[in-house]
Amino acid sequence: MITRGQTRIIKIGNRKIGGGHPILVQSMTQTRTHDVPATVSQILELEKAGCEIVRVTVPDMKAAKTLGKIKAQIHIPLVADIHFQYLLALESIKQGVDKVRINPGNIGGANQVKAVVKACKEKQIPIRIGVNMGSLEKDLWAQYGKYGVARVMVESATKQIKILEKEKFYEIVVSLKGSDVNQTIKAYEAFAGRFAYPLHVGITEAGTAWSGSLKSAVGIGSILSKGIGDTIRVSIAANPVEQVRTAWEILKVLDLRQKGISIIACPTCGRTQIDLIGLAKKVERALSQVQAPLKVAVMGCVVNGPGEARFADIGLSGGKKQAAIFKKGKVVAIIEEEKKFLPVFLQEVRKVLLEKGYQEDAQRLHQVSQK
Ligand code: SF4
Repeated sequence: MITRGQTRIIKIGNRKIGGGHPILVQSMTQTRTHDVPATVSQILELEKAGCEIVRVTVPDMKAAKTLGKIKAQIHIPLVADIHFQYLLALESIKQGVDKVRINPGNIGGANQVKAVVKACKEKQIPIRIGVNMGSLEKDLWAQYGKYGVARVMVESATKQIKILEKEKFYEIVVSLKGSDVNQTIKAYEAFAGRFAYPLHVGITEAGTAWSGSLKSAVGIGSILSKGIGDTIRVSIAANPVEQVRTAWEILKVLDLRQKGISIIACPTCGRTQIDLIGLAKKVERALSQVQAPLKVAVMGCVVNGPGEARFADIGLSGGKKQAAIFKKGKVVAIIEEEKKFLPVFLQEVRKVLLEKGYQEDAQRLHQVSQK
């Protein structure tokens, strides 16, 4: 069990982060924000995949003025991502966004900060300070560079926080992202030891779908395993739906959240007598729409499979022309024909879903099995 740090509770639209609330999954759209139909359609796809907070870039006033229309058509909190231009923040807040990501230190000066803070206070929305390893202040490098980049990142966040605290604004979320995993972990750890503001965790510009997911899993996973982090975003060069899927896998692996099927599959060995890899893929695909937190195993032999996957709610161990279905390590049925392995197994999974009270999932699985 991971003991989570106690951070300040921050409200983002109808969700809360910090103070032990569930770690929320967020993502960012890739569309031109002012293209409302395209942006809304991508957000609805993200919602379906399990995205709980969505961020859109606001590069100009045209984009800012469309945020109200976007918000009216989606169901999760909307965050405006703004760089340098405080007027874009003011318009985004007017349009009803649920959070702004802006660094107060680079929006022009004290009057601009006061204006943004006043608007956020009136609408009761938080600000995320986004520190990025690639764009740290020169003066902080000069002063703290000798202690390493992680220290400079924390000092940068501290500087931004002080600007907001001076205005008596405390609804703050912080991120300290970098593409160097070790330094990013260090930065989050050091920050969590100094502040109780909730943390948005991510490894930025992580890479392509495969390598970036691994890098994110190691980086985000390491930070979360220390009890640090209140919301996560996976930044990989892939469809944002993939980012959301990867984020959920990280949370599921660490037992921090549960959603959908966790597949357990053996790596195969000399004992394997079926197309285990193909079968595991088919099972995963067939169960991809199931929302219930179920552990499902697909194993390559009857001798060791049930024991090796004894924590699975249900599993299949395939042998030559015969497969065993097992629950929590105990064999409960035998399937005699190889072509029946998949359909019979899916039927059994459906029964488990019904037993556990997941009627909608069972119905969904029934529809998939009929195709
Ligand atoms: Fe090999 Fe059986 Fe273990 Fe799979 S479950 S790796 S087939 S021993």
